[in-house]
Amino acid sequence: MKKPTKPPPTNKTLSREDLLHYLKTSDPKELADLYRFADGVRKEYMGDDIHIRGLMNISSYCSRECLYCGLRNSNPATIRYRMEEGDILAAVEQACETGYKTILMQSGEDEFYTEEKVASIVRAIYKRFDAAIGLSFGERPAPVLRRWFDEGACRYLIKHETSDPELYAKLHPGMDYGKRQAVLVTLKEIGYQVGSGIMIGLPGQTYESVADDIVLFRDLDIDMIGCGPYIHNPETPLKHTTPDRERFIQPLDEYVLRVTALNRIVTKDTMIPATTALNVLSPETGARDALSAGANVVMFDITPTAVKKHYTIYPKTAFSDGIADYTILKKNLEAKARRPAGTGYGHREKKR
Ligand code: SAH
Repeated sequence: MKKPTKPPPTNKTLSREDLLHYLKTSDPKELADLYRFADGVRKEYMGDDIHIRGLMNISSYCSRECLYCGLRNSNPATIRYRMEEGDILAAVEQACETGYKTILMQSGEDEFYTEEKVASIVRAIYKRFDAAIGLSFGERPAPVLRRWFDEGACRYLIKHETSDPELYAKLHPGMDYGKRQAVLVTLKEIGYQVGSGIMIGLPGQTYESVADDIVLFRDLDIDMIGCGPYIHNPETPLKHTTPDRERFIQPLDEYVLRVTALNRIVTKDTMIPATTALNVLSPETGARDALSAGANVVMFDITPTAVKKHYTIYPKTAFSDGIADYTILKKNLEAKARRPAGTGYGHREKKR
């Protein structure tokens, strides 16, 4: 084992070896130093504002078969719903009246939402409401992504999930590792603020591959980096964890915090959420701890209450109402993190 080292100053980039060291260390003092250091980088580059996003899951249909995800096409346990344009616009109107400045629409890979349908939705939101528009609809052809950008969407989220090509292939039947990453490059070229991310503790995921993921975020200049824990979904074919802890990273909150902190130190001026999945794992402390280890973004679920429980990527028992409970959710967040919620759009502004 390498001798413990202190986190280096911000003007020095962490090497892959440094990343591995921090992913594997069991020294609590070293981890506390890492989190504190990442918090300082966050403050220096991003200030204190916590950027709140409204997340609307518009469809639980999905044509894919990702082994870890409850929305997978062949899962009979998932109840499928779709929001039509009228429902979406009504929900966006409510969200904007409530105070949201970012609306992120997410769904399974659902061809029901054609180029035209999404273009029309984006155009209407752009014209009528004062909010940044983010999309997360999976892999779409470059001209379609460009069209949606031209209509007014400015952010697109598509996680590369893991930078290990073999693990990617195992978990994503019929999908192509290279193609997924090519979409990230295309999105950057179009001009989107691009979100990517991984799940931490996927069965078979090595520490080395997570170090590679962090390097990839930096090399692709990803604007928003969301890394949450893998949460076992019993309705999927994937088993819970890989027991060999020496080789394989586990889906534990402490690893999520390490990755959050390392992402902040390596990428400095990016948008980093305290992920929703981390809150599922640690409802009391997840958001607070991530926000003091480098994170500066939080998503509130603004999916209409009638359907929100059906977006079952993983099992969930508690559902917050990002519309009715907005004020209390925001107050609790500010009190826990001891930092204010931002009042702007929360765009990424490059500072390095
Ligand atoms: N169709 C979109 C959105 C998919 S759902 C897309 O392809 O980008 C959003 C994210 O949920 C996925 O990117 C994945 O990282 C996460 N997810 C799915 N199943 C999960 C699980 N069991 N545990 C944790 N995160 C999961």
